[in-house]
Amino acid sequence: MKKSDYSELRVAVLGSTGSVGTQALDVIRKLGCRVVFLSAKSNASLLSRQANEFHPEAVCLTDEKKGSDFIFPENGKTELFLGEEAHLKCIESISVDVIIHAVSGLSGISSAIKASEKGVRLAIANKESIITLGDIIQNNLKRTGGVLIPVDSEHSAIFQCLLSNKGERTEIKKLILTASGGPFFGYTAEMLKNVTPAMALAHPTWKMGPKITVDCSTMMNKGFEIIEAVRLFGVSESSVQVVVHRQSIIHSMVEYIDSTVIAQLGSPDMRAPILFALTFPNRVESPVSALDFTSISKLTFDKPDEEVFPLLGIARYAIRCGGVAPAVLISADEAAVSSFLDGVLPFEKIPLVVEKTLDKVSYEKSVSITNVFSAVDDADKIAKSIIRNI
Ligand code: NDP
Ligand code: MG
Repeated sequence: MKKSDYSELRVAVLGSTGSVGTQALDVIRKLGCRVVFLSAKSNASLLSRQANEFHPEAVCLTDEKKGSDFIFPENGKTELFLGEEAHLKCIESISVDVIIHAVSGLSGISSAIKASEKGVRLAIANKESIITLGDIIQNNLKRTGGVLIPVDSEHSAIFQCLLSNKGERTEIKKLILTASGGPFFGYTAEMLKNVTPAMALAHPTWKMGPKITVDCSTMMNKGFEIIEAVRLFGVSESSVQVVVHRQSIIHSMVEYIDSTVIAQLGSPDMRAPILFALTFPNRVESPVSALDFTSISKLTFDKPDEEVFPLLGIARYAIRCGGVAPAVLISADEAAVSSFLDGVLPFEKIPLVVEKTLDKVSYEKSVSITNVFSAVDDADKIAKSIIRNI
């Protein structure tokens, strides 16, 4: 990797203390980009260490109470901002070439919208904002001359596979999302009754933040990714297929109408899609280890078990409902997963909470930021009351 090529690239990392955020900084360290802004919610100590290494112009902690724990870097040039409002103002005012958006969950929506209004490259890991308001984000980018590059590994893979499509989108037959199957692949519904948070947090191939790791174990994450693919690539839900591929070597595929399949392969390491999102359309040497095909004994493909893991089908239902139903889906799942991690809700009841919430919330057909936030609030309240009565 030639450091000099990227030393002028001004990069901001939102959610820099998380799983994707820290891996993004590792890529940036190797690429030698200029870090201008970092943000987190409450992890002041890690943000302080990151600021001390990268000397950004500004940092922000959205949890205002944590401000006093921040230790300013020795050169004294970093400004500290506190609170959600300040976070949005920082995003609006920073002069930047690329924003890596790695804030977790629905709390990343407002910052994603703000980032999409800047007319810069938006390397987005936060799938919640794409799923709920993807069209508005894409329109903002189009209007301001910005570009969206997906960081979620499957969508980065599809983005790369689509580069071979120089013709009409009608030449695309199917997007094939691969799923690792998570730690409970092959389990029966009965076996899921004994799942503890520690078991759900042990993912076989990827190391990620806690929420998405649990979502992988219920297959909710793959359901979200179907919707994310629909929003990002403008295809119908029925043309997105899910295949369980235990080795996580093929990150996703595109099937064309001539039955040719283009796949993207690589080691399961989030630094690969992050690096690609920073350097596209160029490719540079990578810190990610190359595949050694002679040591991969087999690549397997299985049908997902939608009876044991109903959230895949429930996600398809939500996108068919349209409007803000996908926002209801995410909000209900956030409430259910958080309650499971707190030891309150049994693992096997997560789908039930999501399904019942979708049935009970009346969702607006028209998607606007206001409608999405109000659907998220309604769904959260309803999901919590369903959980209390389980
Ligand atoms: P983590 O939980 O590891 O990290 C979340 C980051 O967001 C932390 O830096 C956290 O700060 C910060 N954060 C949380 N709330 C706010 C807020 N309101 N304002 C500013 N920062 C905030 O999550 P992941 O890195 O696993 O996931 C991030 C996103 O990327 C998610 O949307 C996930 O679905 C997606 N994704 C993740 C993948 C992975 O491999 N991890 C793969 C594909 C997609 P603090 O540390 O202070 O709490
Ligand atoms: Mg993914």
